[in-house]
Amino acid sequence: MQSMTVSDKSGGNEVQGPTGFLELGGNVLVVDYGNVYMDGTEVGYLYEDGYLKNPGTESEDMVQWRLIDEVEGCVFRGIDASGIELTLPTSEYGGPTGNLIFNGLKFTVINGRITTEDHRIVGEFDDEGVVHVRDRKTKVARRRLDESNLLSVNFDGVKGNGNKWRHEYYRPLYRKDKPYYENEIIRYFQDYDKLTVLQKKYVVDSLKPWSSSGLLQVVRKSEGNAALGNVKHGAAGVTRVRSGMVDLDAEEFERDIDLFKRFGALAVVSTKYNPYVEVRVNLVVSHEFGHQLQFCLSQATQDRVAELYQARLKRSLKMQPPPPGYEGGSELCRPENLPNRLFISGYAKSSKEEYWAECVAAFSVPESRALLRQMDPGICKIITEVILQSETTFSAVLSEQLLDLQAALRVGGEFGEELVS
Ligand SMILES: [Zn+2]
Repeated sequence: MQSMTVSDKSGGNEVQGPTGFLELGGNVLVVDYGNVYMDGTEVGYLYEDGYLKNPGTESEDMVQWRLIDEVEGCVFRGIDASGIELTLPTSEYGGPTGNLIFNGLKFTVINGRITTEDHRIVGEFDDEGVVHVRDRKTKVARRRLDESNLLSVNFDGVKGNGNKWRHEYYRPLYRKDKPYYENEIIRYFQDYDKLTVLQKKYVVDSLKPWSSSGLLQVVRKSEGNAALGNVKHGAAGVTRVRSGMVDLDAEEFERDIDLFKRFGALAVVSTKYNPYVEVRVNLVVSHEFGHQLQFCLSQATQDRVAELYQARLKRSLKMQPPPPGYEGGSELCRPENLPNRLFISGYAKSSKEEYWAECVAAFSVPESRALLRQMDPGICKIITEVILQSETTFSAVLSEQLLDLQAALRVGGEFGEELVS
């Protein structure tokens, strides 16, 4: 038997424990948020990671913490603090014990349970190196991670049978000195290494939310990656409709970066229809990614975008009529009308596809995201749902793999609500 020092001996005042029933010595005890009751009297405490305050120890200095695995015939069945099904011990065969670094974050593995310093269980790790994560977002107890969504793993400890074991896993082509999101951007953007320092920063900054949330990886696999080529369209980039690959015109890419450097994410440019001006979003890489992303959304989500677009188009034609003689599709404004424009950029008016891509681009960096949120809360709500609730916004064939990856990224500390704040 093992007794351990547990960091929070107060009995769980800071951390909520699980809720359910504890079988112990032929009795069934009630567990309520970690507090263990026998006949209505509190007799112990149970953490999600399996640490159990010995029932029946009265005085504080007598308190012993033991692992549930080591108490004969002791089993907990119920839910964890977030409401996901939990049985302790997690496996009747035990499992590895040791230190785990997952995506650069430190965890402790206790008999196959991946646990945090504050006694939460975030997943399971077995003797073959298979990782399951608990998904507190969609309340799934075990999401098995395969090579497409497993993040870097570095384990040092013992197997269930007590033999010393070191185990490492890195994703293919993974650069160990860079986080997941940067690695994925490097994979997405062909010839990334040939970019200048400034170009790299621009690409990474404008793709970060899409990469950290797992969307970039799933969209790349479905639609293709991005390459600097020569588009010769006069457009900064083109997303091929059939293959979904993105080609970026090298010259336009450089111009975009130059404008971004000088004016930020949004620039007001003059037009030949003096005094009318047009707003430009200087984020071509995330704009083209936005087109790829749109192909991956459910029809219902795309319909919601189309509805918002139609409503804005109608109001724009009425309130920001184009200058006489102008035949283009962009929203041009008199300078004094700029604050009342309907579209984040002039180009966003030209079609529902460009509206979506321009909004995705503007959402990519905090500066223009804040303005977009003021101007068009409806589209920001949809984009936020696409990032945080992919189960209701993505096409059904992609949503399950995305949820597995997002659960891994949450445990790995890369993906949280702060990405869209
Ligand atoms: Zn476009």
